[in-house]
Amino acid sequence: MCEFCLRSGMLCSKCQEKVSNGVVDDLYMKVAQFLLSVENQNPQLQKARLNRVVSVGGFIVLVVGRGDRNRFMGEAGRLARELGGRFKRRVLVIEEGVNDRGFLEDLFTSQHIITINIIWLPDGSTETRVVLQGRGARRLSKKRIKALTEIAKKVRNMDLRVEYVY
Ligand SMILES: [Zn+2]
Repeated sequence: MCEFCLRSGMLCSKCQEKVSNGVVDDLYMKVAQFLLSVENQNPQLQKARLNRVVSVGGFIVLVVGRGDRNRFMGEAGRLARELGGRFKRRVLVIEEGVNDRGFLEDLFTSQHIITINIIWLPDGSTETRVVLQGRGARRLSKKRIKALTEIAKKVRNMDLRVEYVY
């Protein structure tokens, strides 16, 4: 969405079209307006692209341009935490236009990924199997894994199977 519309709360024809076809919704606008309000303290946001904002699995997921993740995280993750505090939810920043590994590294940000492979199911569909290092790591709860699996489905249409090895 353009800056004019975010600042004014009005909609130009271009942004109106984005609202009509669902690219931009109410949550997107709230997040974008918040980011605009902190742009002075976070000048790196000026060049950052916020493509979509998805609410899933108790998270707010920012789908951003390639290479823009750190811009939205802020220094030491401070901006993402601030955003999470404002919306009272966890925030995940995921880049668009990256390969599967890049996507999964953004998704399992605190975990060490050992392998990723694709499993073909009898019906022709695929599952992406992610094996995480379990030993010596802080394991994710079942609930968290379920949430991240939902995010993978919604953001990337990826069916995920998560396993730990020791
Ligand atoms: Zn506009």
